[in-house]
Amino acid sequence: MQSAPGSESSPNSTSATGITPWLGSQLQKIIDNIYEKYKDVDDGTVATYIPELGKANPKDFGICLATVEGQVFTAGDWENEFTIQSMCKPFAFQLALEQHGTEKTLKHVGVEPSGEAFNSIELDQRSGRPFNPMVNAGAIAVASLIKQSPVDAGVEAFVARMGKAAGRELRIDQSVLASETATGNRNRAIAYLLLNAGIIDEEVQQSLHQYFAQCSMLVNCKDLAMMAATMANIGNQPVTGEPVFDFQNLKYVMAVMFSCGLYDYAGNWAFEVGLPAKSGVSGGIFGVVNRQLGIAVYSPRLDAQGNSVRGILACKELASHFGLHAFDFSNVGSSFMQWLL
Ligand code: GLU
Repeated sequence: MQSAPGSESSPNSTSATGITPWLGSQLQKIIDNIYEKYKDVDDGTVATYIPELGKANPKDFGICLATVEGQVFTAGDWENEFTIQSMCKPFAFQLALEQHGTEKTLKHVGVEPSGEAFNSIELDQRSGRPFNPMVNAGAIAVASLIKQSPVDAGVEAFVARMGKAAGRELRIDQSVLASETATGNRNRAIAYLLLNAGIIDEEVQQSLHQYFAQCSMLVNCKDLAMMAATMANIGNQPVTGEPVFDFQNLKYVMAVMFSCGLYDYAGNWAFEVGLPAKSGVSGGIFGVVNRQLGIAVYSPRLDAQGNSVRGILACKELASHFGLHAFDFSNVGSSFMQWLL
């Protein structure tokens, strides 16, 4: 049980330059404990509707926290790579906002939670647009906005920017891309619905390729946590210091993540965990503690809503342990580590 803020003294405290070794070791212990506590939970099943995803090891479980000062704390299989899947959607939305501005982007995609499945073949009846950029229809509309000619240039631009946020070069898993392309008829149906509604242009195959390739990009927990920490750090990569994302748009992206990031669990997530976050069918979840932390968890067994079972458990525990909920009285913007004092 944590003590009230400031009620105890500690040998150390956080500072502008980061977490001191003593606090770091406390934080590491907590992550290790969360890993141990949930590593044997074997509820849920690995996604198989994209056949290549079915090859994931159901035992995998990795956790990574990255601070905005560039410190990294890891547990378990944090180095194992997996495809980013739907977790590419907030980043693609960010790029669309940067390239086209809010007004034009929002002509192609809304920002309302849908209450429908992520892959529903449906538009918002009132606006004629996809509900939001976190469902497939919205993400394909966004992919259409950021694609380039030739199509590989748009994919490369996306992967390069994500690599800058992660702090290392990233790449596409060609087997997953082939598997998605071969079996993605539902997404093809969505794309043609978008074409019919005038939301995307006639280069339907290019838009789909951009979307499938984005989803097939490989990351590990550290990459994702760093990408999230770059968001938390107003767009600047914590280690390299490089400006990666235009900070003016990050608030829009995080707002949509907050309300729509966890499939049909988004409301519960906002209630209980209270962080802008995104999950994907590969079993990853990443969350942003604004101005403080990036969090990533990977474990491929999914619950009925399509979210990682161990990922949800780990994030809930991290959030409650450190008071990370955006509206928690203890979240004062830059000093979550006070709970260890
Ligand atoms: N590529 C996947 C699809 O479009 C992404 C799904 C997800 O992670 O939600 O079906």
